[in-house]
Amino acid sequence: MAEPVRKRELGRGERVVPGVWRLRLPLPWPGVPHCNAWAVAAGDGVVLFDTGMHEPGSLANLERALAMVNLKLEHVRLVVCTHAHSDHYGQVATVLERAGCELWMHPDHEHMTRTAADPDAALQRRIEVARTSGVPEEPLRAYADRRKGENYGIAGIVEPHRDLVPGVVVDTDLGGWEVHETPGHAPSHVCLYQRERRLLISGDHLLGRVSLYYDFGYSPDPAGEFLHSLGVVEDLDARLCLAGHGRTFTDVQAHITANRSLVAQRVQRVLDVVTFDGPISAYDAVPRVYGEAITPATANWWLSETLCYLVHLEVTGRVERIVDGDPRTVERWVALTA
Ligand SMILES: [Zn+2]
Ligand SMILES: [Zn+2]
Repeated sequence: MAEPVRKRELGRGERVVPGVWRLRLPLPWPGVPHCNAWAVAAGDGVVLFDTGMHEPGSLANLERALAMVNLKLEHVRLVVCTHAHSDHYGQVATVLERAGCELWMHPDHEHMTRTAADPDAALQRRIEVARTSGVPEEPLRAYADRRKGENYGIAGIVEPHRDLVPGVVVDTDLGGWEVHETPGHAPSHVCLYQRERRLLISGDHLLGRVSLYYDFGYSPDPAGEFLHSLGVVEDLDARLCLAGHGRTFTDVQAHITANRSLVAQRVQRVLDVVTFDGPISAYDAVPRVYGEAITPATANWWLSETLCYLVHLEVTGRVERIVDGDPRTVERWVALTA
């Protein structure tokens, strides 16, 4: 049966609570139809938390979403990014140009900015990781060809005017928003918390539907960092979560618990595969972990997620990698017996 043709959606704006508007912006990705930017009233304008991705028609969608709630780009007094992924940071350059305001973002944004500044070097690094993980030459070459000249979904590279780190407060009409570092999904990830109202702008750290993704290769243990960040958010005791994708939700604790148990389940599955089938390469482990063969559509995501769990198991002393000092050798993983 042919896939039904998805009608491209348009940007939409709606009020969530007084002074807070959700801007729902379409994405070109299968399985992730849209992302959210959040506008929060601030004096005679708004603070814009995230911007949506840059692609043909994306600015019109942002403007359309703003217009639906009687706002314009010129009302944006400050752009705050939860993290430097394209669906949150992509249109920063354009919005800043139109609104003449600043960008505040966490300083660990190199996972995007360095990649976008030198795409060839970034691609080369990814290919090295894939080769070491056991990806055969043929799919590797096909991948490299597909990715050559890829655009990253950002209008331009913008460095933050101010580092979004703990202690910085984002002032709005609803009060100040605290910055909480929540790396794991991305090294630059922060959540913003309005303590009096118990509102959490959670970016992609906590989503309505549990969906795990980590940037691999920029920090020592992304899955471990993500688990720690779940604890950070848990301590806040938020009442309403404004997430980077999907609807707002109130059962924040249940979402934290669901994320934790899915991570635990996947970590355990990776450990089982290494225990029973090791020594094994990350690439050979993937179909055993997910119970499905790798396809070009899943390869990247699944391989980096599996690598994150392997590294997490390594850091926590449960597996180790066999290396012989030759960088061309495929790394294989074995379980450590207690
Ligand atoms: Zn993201
Ligand atoms: Zn996102």
